[in-house]
Amino acid sequence: MKLTVGLTSSDLKRLSHGSLRFRSSSLAKLYQVALPGAAQTRLGALVDSFSRKELASAPAGATISIGCAAGGDFAVSVGDRKFSIPAGNVLLVDPLNGTLSSLSFTRAGARGKGSPSYRGAIAVYSGTDAVGGLRAAVILDIDDYLRGVLQSEIPASYHIEAIKAQAVAARTYALNPRVDHGPDRVNVCDSYLCCQYFGGLNTSLASSHKTAIDATSHQILTYDGAPILALFSSNAGGHTENYENCFSDIRTNQFPPPAVPYLRGVSEAFHPTSQIAGQTGAEKYLRALYASGTPRTADAWSHHFKWQVSISAAQLEAHLHNTAAKMLAAAETAPFIVPPKSAKFGHILDVAVDKRGVSGSAVEISVKTKSGDWKVRKELVIRDFFVIPNSSIKRLKSARFYLDIARNSAGLISNISFKGLGWGHGVGLQQTGAQGWAKSGRDYRQILAHYYQGTNIERA
Ligand SMILES: [Zn+2]
Repeated sequence: MKLTVGLTSSDLKRLSHGSLRFRSSSLAKLYQVALPGAAQTRLGALVDSFSRKELASAPAGATISIGCAAGGDFAVSVGDRKFSIPAGNVLLVDPLNGTLSSLSFTRAGARGKGSPSYRGAIAVYSGTDAVGGLRAAVILDIDDYLRGVLQSEIPASYHIEAIKAQAVAARTYALNPRVDHGPDRVNVCDSYLCCQYFGGLNTSLASSHKTAIDATSHQILTYDGAPILALFSSNAGGHTENYENCFSDIRTNQFPPPAVPYLRGVSEAFHPTSQIAGQTGAEKYLRALYASGTPRTADAWSHHFKWQVSISAAQLEAHLHNTAAKMLAAAETAPFIVPPKSAKFGHILDVAVDKRGVSGSAVEISVKTKSGDWKVRKELVIRDFFVIPNSSIKRLKSARFYLDIARNSAGLISNISFKGLGWGHGVGLQQTGAQGWAKSGRDYRQILAHYYQGTNIERA
């Protein structure tokens, strides 16, 4: 099965490129082919298209340069030869059995930033949205794509059943990412800021990764016959969370969005005892988990299971008003911050978690100030709210925290300790938990059924 993967800029933030340069390891063929008429059509089918027109061959080692021209056309040069590709067409560079390396954008590798290499044809086309520029996408077999993804997503030393679970989740995610990449004409992009990280080929693939991909080949998770939204994270700190308590609707920003039936929080305890009852129960549960030495959960073995961050009142006062103003001005965070009528950030009187999810994850917090109360909602926005610039206090590792607030004799806050569990959003599969379950004897099908309730494994 062919997958089309959008290649982002060096900072992994944009799908558009001002210009592109590739070098082929072997003889490459260059074709021009019409962009499919129907919007949203992925470019994967183009590699086998009968209507493609051969433009040139590029010898091994030749540089293929592509730049923007007027009106959405683009200019291609291979050695001394130059071509113009009219708008509405795709340049397809097929390295046949070789690889293509990027000379224009870089990726992090073992020896710092370098040229990523790709197996598969690369399609270059003009962006049709306001961003403009050139787009590049690699068209490759889905399992070749997974080889790149697993290298960065899960340690090769993990139990084979955990790696198999991750392989099925990552394969499913590629077919149904949270961001709809239909308008970009790709299935998925290569950035972890948006989808899951794909850095191209690495020189060697760990044998456990290869085994996991081969053993689960073509398998994806479905619900009602369609690929599921297979979210995953690193460590859920003893309990996973419901989708609607962490994510907003990607198109409307509605929060909470409609629930996703198979993304429901589950306990990671080997022998779950009691249900978490209500808001106070959730905080009590977090405190108990944090206080117990190493609880009997599938993920407590990880050093990401517990964390603590301490912020002094001086640090809070110095930065929180800046952060609040910045986040209120940024399009991606503004919908989740409710300022007081004064819109000012006064002297901080109190910080509290007002609403928690089923795992105890903070869904809404309030910061009480002399100028009125600020409300901050949604997992990632809450985690970013307490970043202290130029300090070791970065994005909180998770939203599953409780607060210990110290006050001076006048009753004013002197220090706030965030005591937290887990790393990441904690929705869907968690990698360290999958490892714990695998070591306790569960196979990948049981692990996937635990994290994605009510789903099936089907052949893609
Ligand atoms: Zn993406």
